[in-house]
Amino acid sequence: MSYDDNNIFAKILRGEIPCKKIYEDEYVLSFHDINPQKKIHALVIPKGKFTDLDDFAKKATDKEIVGFIKGVNKVAVKLEITMDNGEGYRALVNIGEFGGQEVPHLHFHLFGGEKIGKMVQ
Ligand code: AMP
Repeated sequence: MSYDDNNIFAKILRGEIPCKKIYEDEYVLSFHDINPQKKIHALVIPKGKFTDLDDFAKKATDKEIVGFIKGVNKVAVKLEITMDNGEGYRALVNIGEFGGQEVPHLHFHLFGGEKIGKMVQ
């Protein structure tokens, strides 16, 4: 699938629509999900144009991959949900139709602030 420049997260990255920002650096932007499923529901997206995790693994530079994973950790630390400064969380990535992905720009969901429950419902 080719990258759609009109997807909602591309628009957020370009500042065309607002978001409730949590963290931003050279590699990632993180913001609160508009329709939170848990007490804390954050999204972390890479700044580059990647449709999903497989596209990211194939095309991103090593720097972008490291920057993204470190960015996820920085967000979790900021939200105080890591095992070092909180009580843990779930990171989840949907990929494609069967994975339930709605927005075609790679994003990690971070759920926390309470027990998250069953792995798959
Ligand atoms: P997914 O189903 O994994 O593609 O998840 C897409 C997520 O993006 C959903 O949890 C939506 O609630 C969330 N979402 C959609 N539009 C926005 C927006 N403008 N700001 C924040 N989150 C959004």
